[in-house]
Amino acid sequence: MRNVAVLGATGSIGTSALDVIARHPDAMRASVLAAGSRVDALVELCRTHRPAHAVIANEAAYPGLRDGLRAAGLETVAHAGPEAIAALAAGDACDTIVAAIVGAAGLDSTLAAARAGKRLLLANKESLVLAGELLMHAAHDAGAAVIPIDSEHNAIFQCLPESGDTDSVRRLLLTASGGPFRGRSRAELANVTPAQAVAHPKWDMGPKISVDSATLMNKGLEVIEAHHLFGLPGERIEVLVHPQSLVHSLVEFIDGSTLAQLGLPDMRTALAVGLGWPRRIASGVGGLDLRAHGRLDFEAPDVDTFPCLRLAYEALAAGGTAPAMLNALDEIAVSAFLQGRIAFLDIPATIEDGLAALPVTPADSLDALLDADARARAFACERCGTGGNA
Ligand code: NAD
Ligand code: MG
Repeated sequence: MRNVAVLGATGSIGTSALDVIARHPDAMRASVLAAGSRVDALVELCRTHRPAHAVIANEAAYPGLRDGLRAAGLETVAHAGPEAIAALAAGDACDTIVAAIVGAAGLDSTLAAARAGKRLLLANKESLVLAGELLMHAAHDAGAAVIPIDSEHNAIFQCLPESGDTDSVRRLLLTASGGPFRGRSRAELANVTPAQAVAHPKWDMGPKISVDSATLMNKGLEVIEAHHLFGLPGERIEVLVHPQSLVHSLVEFIDGSTLAQLGLPDMRTALAVGLGWPRRIASGVGGLDLRAHGRLDFEAPDVDTFPCLRLAYEALAAGGTAPAMLNALDEIAVSAFLQGRIAFLDIPATIEDGLAALPVTPADSLDALLDADARARAFACERCGTGGNA
């Protein structure tokens, strides 16, 4: 029986993970559920999935969780705080983690699970962008299997040889839908609203990653994510806009072969790969009827209109703490945009200004990375007028 901790259980990925787990009651169960602050939604999930432990990051919400679980007649033990999430991720209550907390807030629990040698189903790309080397080393040293859940990286994982060996790989091609604003000019982006930015044409996702998809920062973060997961330099990781979102990524080998993974845009496929690996298990996702879709289009990304992708490549090339700062600047800018405090084009402008102003230092320790993250957050809060509350 696989015991799975679903961290970020109330979110888009968390809900999809629970859907797949519930399809295999003889093989796996959700033993730990964690969420940020939505107590009612967490209690509701506990009613359905009956985990041994439930944890809410916001400590002020603890009494609500404890009383809600009691009122529902559940034996689920209530916990609160980020340390409790990390401790449960590393402890005996689970052997597998779905790391689906959004943002750098996911780093502690992801790192704790890696250090404890757990099977790590990694959706939280920000933890890799912030501390990729550290996280991959921790996983390697502890023998933790890291299975990427981001659809592009999951596709590449499926295309690579079982050994994960990339000697025979010439380049990786990450596909991108292009987001809701594909084809628009910069002038047409000046007044777009948060509601328009989160209305993704192909995927139903949380607000932060949806805005990142609209700026193409999501693809930039994914280039850095791919670098850490597969060990290739930025020059061998390319982005290809593919508006249908049916080809989830491609691997080109030195013999001229290109392998791709195709499927409907539904994250349950990637989650089933991670939960069942090395076996394939049912996910609830139907097959792909290519005759009904008719065509697959590909084009180059427009990095002039969407500079975030260029900024991410530059941060990866600069190395050190640059990717950590890129990530932090983006988190604050996106939050400020979602709150209506800054315009859409201020997102790339904030990140560009921050990367120009803040010194890059070697990423030789977690402290150095967290310090760079904090400096970048302070810069972006100041720039966006969010006074540290973004
Ligand atoms: P979401 O906003 O729908 O859900 C986020 C979850 O994290 C919620 O359960 C929330 O309660 C929890 N959370 C937020 N802050 C927290 C904190 N400080 N401590 C603990 N929990 C906290 O986001 P999502 O779309 O499910 O994305 C989750 C992660 O997966 C992100 O890193 C995203 O980039 C990645 N991802 C998502 C998709 C997708 O299709 N949604 C695809 C690829 C990668
Ligand atoms: Mg993706």
